[in-house]
Amino acid sequence: MPPMRPPVFQPIGHPTAAQRKRESDQRRARDPANRQRRAIYNTVAWRKLRTEFLAVNPYCRACEADGSRPTLATVVDHIVPIEKGGAPFDTDNLQPLCASHHGRKTASHDGGFGHSATTAPQAKYTV
Ligand SMILES: [Zn+2]
Repeated sequence: MPPMRPPVFQPIGHPTAAQRKRESDQRRARDPANRQRRAIYNTVAWRKLRTEFLAVNPYCRACEADGSRPTLATVVDHIVPIEKGGAPFDTDNLQPLCASHHGRKTASHDGGFGHSATTAPQAKYTV
């Protein structure tokens, strides 16, 4: 007999993590501001700018700022989020981040991942 997974007991009326994620994704997809923001990332202009920006700024600015080992940046972050009026194509509003730092910033400052938005004391990482 193959090993069996232990049963997971879910309280009645409480959505599972997968259900909560699905509902959150659906909410985000319906949100017009979010749709508009996503639309920018699909433009040729953004992809070109992003590639050029990462070529000039290859390392995560947050890793640099906190003195940890230089990490290659994979995300071009908007310091002031687009939905808060940040210029989408202004390089002064962009900073290179690694996925880890971008995730932390999104969760703590931008109100992403289902977190409530807070004021950003350190949205911009300075070296
Ligand atoms: Zn980093």
